[in-house]
Amino acid sequence: MIVVMEMGATRDEVQRVEREVAEQGFSSQTVAGTEKTVVLVTSKIYSGAEDLAQHFLRLPAVEKILPVSNLHREVRKPRPSQERKPVTVGSVIVGEGKPKVIAGPCAVESREQTLEAVKVVVQAGADILRLMIFKPRTEKHTFQGIGAELGVPILLEMKERFGLPIISEPVRIREIEALYPVVDAFQIGTRSATSYDLLEHVEQTKKPVMLKRGKGQKLEELFGSATYLVDGPQEKNRIIFCERGIETFENAARFTPDIFAIPFIQRESGCPVVFDPSHSTGRWWAVAAMARAAIGAGADGLEIDVHPYPQRAMVDAAQQLTPEAFKSLMEELRGMIESRNSPIIE
Ligand code: PEP
Ligand code: MN
Repeated sequence: MIVVMEMGATRDEVQRVEREVAEQGFSSQTVAGTEKTVVLVTSKIYSGAEDLAQHFLRLPAVEKILPVSNLHREVRKPRPSQERKPVTVGSVIVGEGKPKVIAGPCAVESREQTLEAVKVVVQAGADILRLMIFKPRTEKHTFQGIGAELGVPILLEMKERFGLPIISEPVRIREIEALYPVVDAFQIGTRSATSYDLLEHVEQTKKPVMLKRGKGQKLEELFGSATYLVDGPQEKNRIIFCERGIETFENAARFTPDIFAIPFIQRESGCPVVFDPSHSTGRWWAVAAMARAAIGAGADGLEIDVHPYPQRAMVDAAQQLTPEAFKSLMEELRGMIESRNSPIIE
Protein backbone atom coordinates (compact mmCIF):
# COMPACT_ATOMS: atom_id res chain seq x y z
CA MET A 1 0.00 0.00 0.00
CA ILE A 2 1.05 3.61 -0.44
CA VAL A 3 0.80 6.12 2.39
CA VAL A 4 0.34 9.59 0.89
CA MET A 5 1.50 12.41 3.20
CA GLU A 6 -0.25 15.77 3.31
CA MET A 7 1.41 18.65 1.48
CA GLY A 8 3.98 20.25 3.76
CA ALA A 9 4.35 17.20 6.02
CA THR A 10 7.49 17.59 8.11
CA ARG A 11 10.48 15.27 8.14
CA ASP A 12 9.44 14.18 11.67
CA GLU A 13 5.95 13.28 10.52
CA VAL A 14 7.30 11.20 7.64
CA GLN A 15 9.73 9.44 9.99
CA ARG A 16 6.87 8.69 12.35
CA VAL A 17 5.12 6.80 9.53
CA GLU A 18 8.33 4.95 8.62
CA ARG A 19 8.77 3.92 12.29
CA GLU A 20 5.19 2.73 12.47
CA VAL A 21 5.63 0.64 9.32
CA ALA A 22 8.77 -0.96 10.79
CA GLU A 23 7.00 -1.62 14.10
CA GLN A 24 4.23 -3.44 12.20
CA GLY A 25 6.93 -5.67 10.70
CA PHE A 26 7.00 -4.27 7.17
CA SER A 27 9.61 -2.46 5.14
CA SER A 28 9.12 0.87 3.47
CA GLN A 29 10.60 3.14 0.90
CA THR A 30 10.02 6.87 0.98
CA VAL A 31 9.72 8.89 -2.19
CA ALA A 32 9.71 12.68 -1.99
CA GLY A 33 7.81 14.22 -4.88
CA THR A 34 7.73 17.88 -5.82
CA GLU A 35 4.55 18.46 -3.82
CA LYS A 36 3.98 15.46 -1.62
CA THR A 37 5.93 12.65 -0.03
CA VAL A 38 4.71 9.06 -0.26
CA VAL A 39 5.77 6.05 1.79
CA LEU A 40 5.61 2.76 -0.09
CA VAL A 41 4.82 -0.08 2.30
CA THR A 42 6.00 -3.51 1.22
CA SER A 43 4.36 -6.47 2.89
CA LYS A 44 3.53 -10.05 2.06
CA ILE A 45 0.24 -9.98 3.90
CA TYR A 46 -2.99 -9.06 2.32
CA SER A 47 -5.48 -10.12 4.95
CA GLY A 48 -5.99 -7.32 7.39
CA ALA A 49 -4.59 -4.76 4.94
CA GLU A 50 -7.69 -2.62 5.27
CA ASP A 51 -7.42 -2.55 9.04
CA LEU A 52 -3.75 -1.65 8.75
CA ALA A 53 -4.62 1.20 6.41
CA GLN A 54 -7.03 2.58 9.01
CA HIS A 55 -4.22 2.46 11.52
CA PHE A 56 -1.89 4.54 9.35
CA LEU A 57 -4.68 7.02 8.72
CA ARG A 58 -4.61 8.00 12.40
CA LEU A 59 -1.02 9.25 12.17
CA PRO A 60 -0.42 13.01 11.88
CA ALA A 61 -0.08 14.45 8.36
CA VAL A 62 -1.24 11.27 6.60
CA GLU A 63 -3.63 12.27 3.83
CA LYS A 64 -4.74 8.94 2.38
CA ILE A 65 -3.82 5.33 1.80
CA LEU A 66 -3.78 3.83 -1.67
CA PRO A 67 -4.12 0.06 -1.72
CA VAL A 68 -1.99 -1.68 -4.32
CA SER A 69 -2.63 -5.41 -3.84
CA ASN A 70 -5.96 -6.88 -4.83
CA LEU A 71 -8.25 -8.15 -2.14
CA HIS A 72 -10.48 -11.23 -2.44
CA ARG A 73 -7.75 -13.60 -3.58
CA GLU A 74 -9.99 -16.57 -2.88
CA VAL A 75 -12.18 -15.63 -5.81
CA ARG A 76 -10.13 -13.22 -7.91
CA LYS A 77 -7.30 -14.04 -10.24
CA PRO A 78 -3.90 -12.43 -9.57
CA ARG A 79 -4.41 -10.57 -12.85
CA PRO A 80 -7.40 -10.44 -15.19
CA SER A 81 -7.20 -13.11 -17.87
CA GLN A 82 -9.20 -15.44 -20.07
CA GLU A 83 -8.78 -18.34 -17.67
CA ARG A 84 -12.19 -19.77 -16.83
CA LYS A 85 -13.49 -21.74 -13.86
CA PRO A 86 -16.52 -23.69 -15.07
CA VAL A 87 -18.87 -25.02 -12.40
CA THR A 88 -20.52 -28.44 -12.60
CA VAL A 89 -24.14 -28.42 -11.45
CA GLY A 90 -25.39 -32.01 -11.55
CA SER A 91 -24.94 -33.04 -15.18
CA VAL A 92 -24.60 -29.48 -16.49
CA ILE A 93 -21.43 -27.42 -16.80
CA VAL A 94 -21.94 -23.68 -16.39
CA GLY A 95 -19.19 -21.45 -17.77
CA GLU A 96 -18.09 -23.76 -20.55
CA GLY A 97 -19.55 -24.16 -24.00
CA LYS A 98 -23.00 -22.79 -24.60
CA PRO A 99 -24.79 -20.52 -22.14
CA LYS A 100 -27.20 -22.43 -19.91
CA VAL A 101 -30.79 -21.57 -19.05
CA ILE A 102 -32.05 -21.88 -15.48
CA ALA A 103 -35.83 -21.63 -15.45
CA GLY A 104 -38.89 -22.33 -13.35
CA PRO A 105 -41.52 -20.46 -11.39
CA CYS A 106 -40.48 -17.71 -9.05
CA ALA A 107 -41.94 -19.82 -6.25
CA VAL A 108 -43.12 -23.40 -5.93
CA GLU A 109 -46.79 -22.85 -5.03
CA SER A 110 -48.26 -26.35 -5.45
CA ARG A 111 -47.43 -29.68 -7.06
CA GLU A 112 -49.68 -28.97 -10.05
CA GLN A 113 -48.35 -25.48 -10.71
CA THR A 114 -44.76 -26.74 -10.45
CA LEU A 115 -45.37 -29.74 -12.68
CA GLU A 116 -46.94 -27.55 -15.37
CA ALA A 117 -44.12 -25.02 -15.23
CA VAL A 118 -41.42 -27.68 -15.27
CA LYS A 119 -42.97 -29.50 -18.24
CA VAL A 120 -42.92 -26.25 -20.19
CA VAL A 121 -39.34 -25.28 -19.38
CA VAL A 122 -37.98 -28.79 -19.96
CA GLN A 123 -39.73 -29.05 -23.31
CA ALA A 124 -38.46 -25.65 -24.35
CA GLY A 125 -34.88 -26.70 -23.60
CA ALA A 126 -33.98 -25.34 -20.15
CA ASP A 127 -30.85 -26.86 -18.59
CA ILE A 128 -31.43 -26.35 -14.85
CA LEU A 129 -34.65 -25.99 -12.84
CA ARG A 130 -35.15 -23.18 -10.35
CA LEU A 131 -37.52 -24.48 -7.69
CA MET A 132 -37.83 -22.19 -4.70
CA ILE A 133 -39.64 -23.45 -1.62
CA PHE A 134 -38.37 -20.73 0.73
CA LYS A 135 -38.86 -17.18 -0.46
CA PRO A 136 -36.79 -14.23 0.74
CA ARG A 137 -39.43 -11.55 1.20
CA THR A 138 -38.98 -7.95 2.19
CA GLU A 139 -42.16 -8.12 4.33
CA LYS A 140 -42.81 -10.71 6.98
CA HIS A 141 -46.56 -10.91 6.30
CA THR A 142 -46.25 -12.01 2.70
CA PHE A 143 -46.02 -15.50 1.19
CA GLN A 144 -42.81 -17.03 2.51
CA GLY A 145 -42.72 -20.10 0.29
CA ILE A 146 -44.47 -23.42 0.79
CA GLY A 147 -41.71 -24.71 3.05
CA ALA A 148 -39.84 -27.99 3.44
CA GLU A 149 -42.67 -30.33 4.39
CA LEU A 150 -44.74 -29.67 1.28
CA GLY A 151 -41.91 -28.53 -0.96
CA VAL A 152 -39.19 -31.17 -0.68
CA PRO A 153 -41.41 -34.01 -1.97
CA ILE A 154 -42.32 -31.86 -5.00
CA LEU A 155 -38.62 -31.23 -5.73
CA LEU A 156 -37.86 -34.93 -5.40
CA GLU A 157 -40.64 -35.78 -7.81
CA MET A 158 -39.41 -33.23 -10.37
CA LYS A 159 -35.89 -34.59 -10.09
CA GLU A 160 -37.04 -38.14 -10.61
CA ARG A 161 -39.37 -37.35 -13.49
CA PHE A 162 -37.23 -34.94 -15.45
CA GLY A 163 -33.65 -35.61 -14.32
CA LEU A 164 -32.56 -31.97 -14.61
CA PRO A 165 -30.33 -30.39 -11.96
CA ILE A 166 -32.17 -28.28 -9.38
CA ILE A 167 -31.17 -24.98 -7.82
CA SER A 168 -32.97 -23.69 -4.74
CA GLU A 169 -32.48 -21.01 -2.13
CA PRO A 170 -32.21 -21.42 1.63
CA VAL A 171 -33.23 -18.13 3.20
CA ARG A 172 -32.28 -19.20 6.71
CA ILE A 173 -29.45 -21.42 7.93
CA ARG A 174 -31.88 -24.02 9.24
CA GLU A 175 -33.30 -24.46 5.72
CA ILE A 176 -30.01 -25.70 4.25
CA GLU A 177 -30.43 -29.17 5.71
CA ALA A 178 -33.83 -29.81 4.11
CA LEU A 179 -32.59 -28.71 0.69
CA TYR A 180 -29.22 -30.46 0.84
CA PRO A 181 -30.26 -33.93 -0.39
CA VAL A 182 -32.34 -32.65 -3.30
CA VAL A 183 -30.48 -29.66 -4.74
CA ASP A 184 -27.50 -29.67 -7.10
CA ALA A 185 -26.67 -26.06 -6.31
CA PHE A 186 -27.73 -23.52 -3.71
CA GLN A 187 -28.84 -20.03 -4.59
CA ILE A 188 -28.03 -17.08 -2.38
CA GLY A 189 -30.54 -14.34 -3.11
CA THR A 190 -29.88 -10.64 -3.26
CA ARG A 191 -31.23 -10.04 0.25
CA SER A 192 -28.83 -12.62 1.69
CA ALA A 193 -25.70 -11.47 -0.13
CA THR A 194 -24.26 -10.09 3.12
CA SER A 195 -25.68 -12.73 5.49
CA TYR A 196 -22.22 -14.01 6.30
CA ASP A 197 -23.43 -16.73 8.66
CA LEU A 198 -25.64 -18.16 5.92
CA LEU A 199 -22.80 -17.94 3.38
CA GLU A 200 -20.43 -19.78 5.71
CA HIS A 201 -22.94 -22.54 6.29
CA VAL A 202 -23.53 -22.95 2.56
CA GLU A 203 -19.75 -23.06 2.04
CA GLN A 204 -19.55 -26.00 4.42
CA THR A 205 -21.88 -28.07 2.22
CA LYS A 206 -19.26 -27.89 -0.59
CA LYS A 207 -22.09 -27.81 -3.14
CA PRO A 208 -21.98 -25.33 -6.03
CA VAL A 209 -23.57 -22.01 -5.21
CA MET A 210 -25.01 -19.22 -7.30
CA LEU A 211 -24.45 -15.94 -5.51
CA LYS A 212 -26.79 -13.17 -6.58
CA ARG A 213 -25.41 -9.67 -6.33
CA GLY A 214 -26.79 -7.66 -3.42
CA LYS A 215 -29.11 -5.03 -4.87
CA GLY A 216 -27.02 -2.28 -3.27
CA GLN A 217 -23.67 -3.99 -3.69
CA LYS A 218 -20.66 -2.69 -5.55
CA LEU A 219 -18.90 -5.39 -7.54
CA GLU A 220 -15.96 -5.08 -5.12
CA GLU A 221 -18.34 -5.92 -2.26
CA LEU A 222 -19.84 -8.82 -4.20
CA PHE A 223 -16.36 -10.37 -4.38
CA GLY A 224 -16.12 -9.76 -0.64
CA SER A 225 -19.32 -11.80 -0.11
CA ALA A 226 -17.92 -14.56 -2.32
CA THR A 227 -14.86 -14.95 -0.09
CA TYR A 228 -17.20 -16.41 2.55
CA LEU A 229 -18.24 -19.14 0.12
CA VAL A 230 -14.83 -20.66 -0.46
CA ASP A 231 -12.19 -22.09 1.79
CA GLY A 232 -9.29 -21.04 -0.43
CA PRO A 233 -8.32 -20.20 -4.02
CA GLN A 234 -8.37 -23.87 -5.00
CA GLU A 235 -12.12 -23.92 -4.42
CA LYS A 236 -13.15 -21.10 -6.70
CA ASN A 237 -14.86 -23.32 -9.23
CA ARG A 238 -17.87 -23.78 -6.96
CA ILE A 239 -19.10 -20.23 -7.44
CA ILE A 240 -21.45 -18.90 -10.07
CA PHE A 241 -22.19 -15.20 -9.86
CA CYS A 242 -25.58 -13.81 -10.83
CA GLU A 243 -26.19 -10.24 -11.90
CA ARG A 244 -29.81 -9.42 -11.05
CA GLY A 245 -29.93 -5.64 -11.21
CA ILE A 246 -29.04 -2.98 -8.69
CA GLU A 247 -30.79 -0.08 -7.04
CA THR A 248 -30.07 3.24 -8.72
CA PHE A 249 -31.93 6.56 -8.97
CA GLU A 250 -33.84 5.10 -11.93
CA ASN A 251 -37.06 3.34 -11.00
CA ALA A 252 -38.78 2.72 -14.32
CA ALA A 253 -37.61 -0.87 -14.01
CA ARG A 254 -37.69 -2.73 -10.70
CA PHE A 255 -33.87 -2.59 -10.64
CA THR A 256 -31.22 -1.41 -13.08
CA PRO A 257 -29.65 -4.31 -14.96
CA ASP A 258 -25.87 -3.91 -14.97
CA ILE A 259 -24.65 -5.58 -18.14
CA PHE A 260 -21.08 -4.39 -17.54
CA ALA A 261 -20.93 -6.69 -14.52
CA ILE A 262 -20.95 -9.73 -16.82
CA PRO A 263 -17.55 -9.33 -18.55
CA PHE A 264 -16.07 -7.64 -15.48
CA ILE A 265 -16.79 -10.51 -13.09
CA GLN A 266 -15.67 -13.06 -15.70
CA ARG A 267 -12.38 -11.25 -16.29
CA GLU A 268 -11.62 -10.70 -12.63
CA SER A 269 -12.67 -14.07 -11.23
CA GLY A 270 -12.96 -16.55 -14.10
CA CYS A 271 -16.23 -17.66 -12.50
CA PRO A 272 -19.35 -18.10 -14.61
CA VAL A 273 -21.81 -15.21 -14.63
CA VAL A 274 -25.53 -15.80 -15.01
CA PHE A 275 -27.92 -12.94 -15.70
CA ASP A 276 -31.46 -12.70 -14.33
CA PRO A 277 -33.66 -10.69 -16.70
CA SER A 278 -36.77 -11.38 -14.59
CA HIS A 279 -35.83 -9.92 -11.19
CA SER A 280 -33.68 -7.19 -12.72
CA THR A 281 -36.57 -5.69 -14.67
CA GLY A 282 -39.68 -6.85 -12.84
CA ARG A 283 -41.57 -6.74 -16.16
CA TRP A 284 -42.41 -9.73 -18.38
CA TRP A 285 -42.21 -7.66 -21.55
CA ALA A 286 -38.61 -6.60 -20.85
CA VAL A 287 -37.31 -10.12 -20.16
CA ALA A 288 -36.60 -11.08 -23.79
CA ALA A 289 -34.75 -7.85 -24.57
CA MET A 290 -32.55 -8.12 -21.47
CA ALA A 291 -31.94 -11.84 -22.07
CA ARG A 292 -30.68 -11.07 -25.57
CA ALA A 293 -28.49 -8.28 -24.23
CA ALA A 294 -26.96 -10.56 -21.59
CA ILE A 295 -26.20 -13.39 -23.99
CA GLY A 296 -24.74 -10.82 -26.36
CA ALA A 297 -22.57 -9.54 -23.52
CA GLY A 298 -21.17 -13.01 -22.94
CA ALA A 299 -23.27 -14.27 -20.00
CA ASP A 300 -22.74 -17.92 -19.14
CA GLY A 301 -26.42 -18.39 -18.49
CA LEU A 302 -29.80 -16.87 -17.76
CA GLU A 303 -32.16 -17.34 -14.84
CA ILE A 304 -35.76 -16.82 -15.92
CA ASP A 305 -39.09 -16.93 -14.05
CA VAL A 306 -41.76 -18.96 -15.86
CA HIS A 307 -45.28 -19.57 -14.49
CA PRO A 308 -48.13 -21.53 -16.08
CA TYR A 309 -50.57 -18.72 -15.15
CA PRO A 310 -48.54 -15.60 -14.27
CA GLN A 311 -51.67 -13.55 -13.58
CA ARG A 312 -52.41 -15.90 -10.67
CA ALA A 313 -48.84 -16.13 -9.38
CA MET A 314 -48.45 -15.64 -5.63
CA VAL A 315 -45.14 -13.82 -6.10
CA ASP A 316 -43.69 -11.59 -8.82
CA ALA A 317 -46.66 -11.96 -11.18
CA ALA A 318 -45.57 -9.01 -13.32
CA GLN A 319 -42.24 -10.51 -14.33
CA GLN A 320 -42.99 -14.19 -14.88
CA LEU A 321 -43.18 -15.39 -18.47
CA THR A 322 -46.15 -17.36 -19.77
CA PRO A 323 -45.32 -20.77 -21.24
CA GLU A 324 -45.84 -19.32 -24.74
CA ALA A 325 -43.54 -16.36 -24.10
CA PHE A 326 -40.83 -18.63 -22.69
CA LYS A 327 -41.05 -21.01 -25.65
CA SER A 328 -40.76 -18.21 -28.14
CA LEU A 329 -37.87 -16.64 -26.21
CA MET A 330 -36.01 -19.95 -26.21
CA GLU A 331 -36.57 -20.28 -29.95
CA GLU A 332 -35.35 -16.77 -30.47
CA LEU A 333 -32.26 -17.32 -28.31
CA ARG A 334 -31.42 -20.67 -29.86
CA GLY A 335 -29.34 -19.16 -32.65
CA MET A 336 -27.41 -16.96 -30.22
CA ILE A 337 -26.88 -19.83 -27.78
CA GLU A 338 -25.81 -22.39 -30.41
CA SER A 339 -23.31 -20.04 -31.97
CA ARG A 340 -21.59 -19.31 -28.64
CA ASN A 341 -19.45 -22.35 -27.96
CA SER A 342 -16.95 -20.61 -25.81
CA PRO A 343 -17.40 -17.62 -23.55
CA ILE A 344 -16.71 -14.27 -25.17
CA ILE A 345 -13.62 -12.81 -23.60
CA GLU A 346 -11.19 -10.67 -25.57
C1 PEP B 1 -35.23 -15.35 -6.75
O1 PEP B 1 -34.43 -15.64 -7.65
O2 PEP B 1 -36.12 -16.11 -6.38
C2 PEP B 1 -35.12 -14.04 -6.08
C3 PEP B 1 -35.89 -13.73 -5.05
O3 PEP B 1 -34.23 -13.21 -6.67
P1 PEP B 1 -33.43 -12.01 -6.00
O4 PEP B 1 -32.82 -12.55 -4.76
O5 PEP B 1 -32.45 -11.64 -7.06
O6 PEP B 1 -34.43 -10.91 -5.75
MN1 MN C 1 -39.10 -13.69 -7.81
